[in-house]
Amino acid sequence: MDYQGLIEEVYHEVQAENLKGKVADYIPEIANVDPNQFGIALVDLKGNVYGVGDHQVPFSIQSISKVHTLTMVFNVFNTKLWSRVNVEPSGDPFNSIAQLEYEKGIPRNPFINAGALVITDALCSKFENPIDQLSEFINELAGETCVKINPDVMNSEKNHGERNTALAYFLKSYKNFNNPIEEVLNVYFSQCAIEMSCVDLAKSFSFLANDGFSIFADRQILSESSARRINALMLTCGFYDEAGEFAYRVGLPGKSGVGGGVAAVMPHKFSIAVWSPELNEKGNSIKSIRALELLTDKLSFSLF
Ligand code: GLU
Repeated sequence: MDYQGLIEEVYHEVQAENLKGKVADYIPEIANVDPNQFGIALVDLKGNVYGVGDHQVPFSIQSISKVHTLTMVFNVFNTKLWSRVNVEPSGDPFNSIAQLEYEKGIPRNPFINAGALVITDALCSKFENPIDQLSEFINELAGETCVKINPDVMNSEKNHGERNTALAYFLKSYKNFNNPIEEVLNVYFSQCAIEMSCVDLAKSFSFLANDGFSIFADRQILSESSARRINALMLTCGFYDEAGEFAYRVGLPGKSGVGGGVAAVMPHKFSIAVWSPELNEKGNSIKSIRALELLTDKLSFSLF
């Protein structure tokens, strides 16, 4: 398979479509990125890296980090986690608080903010230096020191964190939160502020395409069955309330972030990261989604 030729073709076709969206503007550090950036990196299971466009430019991975924290925590708590977080798509915006009240403090899934806060709380219960250990873990997955936490993004997330703070207090009122709120929020805002390139992000997702074994870390990160479960969660819950549309149009397990990144896997074939900051009205990168749609159309195989 000529992956380099394939992603270049996709890249040029998407660029020619001149798609327009809107850069997330909830904090100035995200609002001020150059909206025209666009990169794709694909990593096959031999570790070959293919890239086009701005694939080496670090960007704010935001909610994509929820997959990394879930992986760390899933390894420790295993299925016990599911008494604290459900595994159902939400159909609501990522930061919705309404569902949490009528479902009595059990978030719908680990990828909406309420669920991710529970996961970060679990991380704080088991890891002494969660921020450092999360960075080290992602570096290990990528096979190099690549993670940077942007302090300006982190502080800005904190200064605009009313809703996440409200979600954390709400969870605490339902006794689904074990650590001091400020401590967990600091970790959560730091994970949102992680910056990495498409290349490193695709490498960090490689184990999910490879039955839980990372060729870059050279070890089994998750059991085969746990890796399959994370993929199932990404397929059903990884794209805000557009997961169904993404499964229909693209058909790959993946996770997006408001920084415009998408990381996805084709099990037993490759992992891929695409980034372009302009988002559609559901908060998913308009060019990244289109690129993945074209890519899966052009492939001679699919998940299904
Ligand atoms: N920093 C954002 C928040 O928690 C993350 C949003 C996202 O990428 O989904 O509100």
